[in-house]
Amino acid sequence: MSGKTDKTDKNCIFCKITAGEIPSKKIFEDDEILAFHDINPVAPVHFLVIPKIHIGSLNDVNGENIEYIAHIFKKIPEIAKELGIAGDGYRVVNNIGKNGRQSVDHLHFHVVGGRKLTWSF
Ligand code: AMP
Repeated sequence: MSGKTDKTDKNCIFCKITAGEIPSKKIFEDDEILAFHDINPVAPVHFLVIPKIHIGSLNDVNGENIEYIAHIFKKIPEIAKELGIAGDGYRVVNNIGKNGRQSVDHLHFHVVGGRKLTWSF
């Protein structure tokens, strides 16, 4: 995968988690991506999956880094299965920018499950 660990942002909290400077409850990790439990879960299962390089949001996905998205989306159902939520279903959420209420400017996909979810904006 192109441009791996050189592309980090020293002020980014998720880059710090990736670097091990801030602790996290890791679920899965390889050279490209990291999955960890959300610190403020909204459901019995709530984890985040991030690329290890700094990508600000989905708006910053391009031909250079698109493989991270494919990799993340291949991994999400595998982790969901391992955590026992795949069968009953779950939700994948990606917030983008101010109106999307993105609070951490490092691309991340929320995976939420373990209960029947409501649909609210
Ligand atoms: P968003 O609002 O879509 O940007 O989501 C950011 C998510 O990151 C929120 O659900 C936070 O609870 C979560 N979060 C922030 N800091 C941490 C942290 N140190 N460890 C785990 N999750 C975090």
